[in-house]
Amino acid sequence: MSHLDETMPVSSPVIADRSPLALAQALIRCPSVTPEEGGALQWLGGVLEAAGFTVERPRFSEPGTPDIDNLYARIGTGSPYLLFAGHTDVVPPGSVEAWRHGPFHGAVSDGMLYGRGAVDMKGGIACMLSAALAFVAERGGAFNGSIGFLVTGDEEGPAVNGTVKLLAWAKARGERFDHCLLGEPTNPSRLGEMIKIGRRGSLTGKLVVHGRQGHVAYPHKAENPIPGLLRLASALLDEPLDGGSAHFDASILEFTTIDVGNPATNVIPADARATFNIRFNDGWTAQTLGAEIRRRLEAAAGNAVRFTLDLQPSNSPAFLTAPDAFTHLVAEAIEAETGLRPTLSTTGGTSDARFIKDACPVIEFGLVGETMHQTDECVAVADLDRLTAIYQRLLTAYFNR
Ligand SMILES: [Zn+2]
Repeated sequence: MSHLDETMPVSSPVIADRSPLALAQALIRCPSVTPEEGGALQWLGGVLEAAGFTVERPRFSEPGTPDIDNLYARIGTGSPYLLFAGHTDVVPPGSVEAWRHGPFHGAVSDGMLYGRGAVDMKGGIACMLSAALAFVAERGGAFNGSIGFLVTGDEEGPAVNGTVKLLAWAKARGERFDHCLLGEPTNPSRLGEMIKIGRRGSLTGKLVVHGRQGHVAYPHKAENPIPGLLRLASALLDEPLDGGSAHFDASILEFTTIDVGNPATNVIPADARATFNIRFNDGWTAQTLGAEIRRRLEAAAGNAVRFTLDLQPSNSPAFLTAPDAFTHLVAEAIEAETGLRPTLSTTGGTSDARFIKDACPVIEFGLVGETMHQTDECVAVADLDRLTAIYQRLLTAYFNR
């Protein structure tokens, strides 16, 4: 159950400096720690509206989760329609005193811009914005096609009232996108080295092995669940899940905790628990993978081990945007500006691309992610300029096709 509460009013600030640095600083100075809007979307909407975009600010709510502000902006009515996507919310700064420059100051030092969100991903939003403003100004707003912004304030949080609902809202209004570029930080260490063309899926399982409590000195009167849990854990770890696929590494299963919670040294516990998470490739769905996990556990358990497996509902499927002409355009723009030929990768965690892929082909390219979520998160000012140039080059190529 969900509903649209209201659409926030937009006010248009006058901005003199449209450099990505100035735009990124303005965004960093909005303390938009999830779920707080912090003024970031308000500011972004104002800038886009002043540039001729039609801006909507849908706010979504759902019982048990915080209300979330979002932004949707579009200029142009025709196709092709290129959508920029991202988020303005950021993870908490942690200890503010630990930062060399305040997390929300937007200070520049030695060619680096410091602040929470510098790379994840206010810096990326600033580059998209700067590129789009320059492109629209250059064409006088007249070009064949549409440019849009789909920006949420709920990427780092539960991701319930963000991109998923924003996409459904846009779909209900008849919005149809041709391609989406998501500006998450995709480069491990150098701008230009990596595009993400898909993401692995994620599946979490909770395993309980049931025994019977008793005195350690009388094990025949009890049933120790711990050897059974070890046997089942081995069954999941011994054989690889797969050998990878054309665009994906092998799927990986990691145990994240094993718990017995038994403070006594003379008691055999009643049950033993473990949690694991699997990052899986496009050879699996959550359903086929869940069935395989269950098959392995049942084979290992036989009649000797009693267990319960609880697979958490997953909203993170594995997906691939097969490389096509759009991917090629992005890669060419990157190579022209950086001299690097980007790897087409599916590594890393999940992102909102897993939702956008149902609306249109989506690929991800943004800044260097090295410092994301860290104290002293920072980005090279030169990288902001180069990423903006890449996005601008893409816009020109995309609408000249
Ligand atoms: Zn992010």
